[in-house]
Amino acid sequence: MKTTFRPRLLNGPTGDPALLLALRWQGRALLLDLGRIDRTPAAVLLPIEAVFVSHAHMDHFMGFDQLLRLFLARDMTLRLYGPQGLADCVAGKLAGYTWNLTDEYAFVLEVTEISARETVRWRFAARRRFAREPLGSPMPFGGTVLADPIFTVEAAPLDHKIVSMAYAVTERTHLNVRADALAAAGLRAGPWLNALKRAVRAGADADTPVEVAPGNRRPLAALRDALLTVTPGQKVAYVVDTLFSPSNAAAIVRLAAGADLFFCEAPFLEEDLEQASRRYHLTARQAGALARAARVRRLQVFHFSPRYEGRYGDILAEAEAEFAGVDARYVELEPGGAALP
Ligand SMILES: [Zn+2]
Ligand SMILES: [Zn+2]
Repeated sequence: MKTTFRPRLLNGPTGDPALLLALRWQGRALLLDLGRIDRTPAAVLLPIEAVFVSHAHMDHFMGFDQLLRLFLARDMTLRLYGPQGLADCVAGKLAGYTWNLTDEYAFVLEVTEISARETVRWRFAARRRFAREPLGSPMPFGGTVLADPIFTVEAAPLDHKIVSMAYAVTERTHLNVRADALAAAGLRAGPWLNALKRAVRAGADADTPVEVAPGNRRPLAALRDALLTVTPGQKVAYVVDTLFSPSNAAAIVRLAAGADLFFCEAPFLEEDLEQASRRYHLTARQAGALARAARVRRLQVFHFSPRYEGRYGDILAEAEAEFAGVDARYVELEPGGAALP
């Protein structure tokens, strides 16, 4: 399957969290978390147009300055998404510098704070010396924070003693027209094919009439089945810094369900379970169990504690074994197992 996203942990699985999702052929990229990025070449960072921050602990947000420095003189809007309080953190960082020579700059930061039921937006414009300004009125939040023509981004707040936001980025379904089938049906390509794709994407009724030529209408389902190949889009889920609690586990399984690739933190080994829980983090085994319960295709654990240096292989093995269900410990997460509250 040709996928649009090219995911890459900028600091590998052991460094600060920063997951780049480059959109193939688009010259666009998203960034999940903003840990240190100073060793990443500018050319890799320049396509970033939106950053999804889990929370503002230092290892997840200290790359902000670097990105700002890189983007400051550019004519663009950089969008930041994150939990409530993110705009305060951004304002605090901006207040640490002097902005008397940026009046000509077109660069704008737009911050969207995600809370349980609504999203609130703020704007920080270079030409206004990064003064904080409210942007529009709060919008109801029902799980999706960004709907792009190519992908959607969902967010789920998790408990890390503060909110840590988890994200899932899902490419929209690919609909390709089979040229041979089009010719065989005696039809000509035209704008009606886009109307057909839009109707299929919107889940329109099977008998919805689609005009294939002036005065010639055919039912949607027949056209779809004969002419289109439908390929589900790729889904990437991202979970960091979270307690293994029933409500967090339920939220993670829901968000990551069926993901092609699941990036999940695994700072601790199960042998240090007590410490992991005390610090509101997952163990590798728990990451594996969540991946299994969410029926993801592939698990990539990361954000390892440096205490395991030299034993990172153990983290990977523990997560993989639980993911595969070998000697599974967290069976209560299985679909059909004990209900999660
Ligand atoms: Zn944290
Ligand atoms: Zn962290």
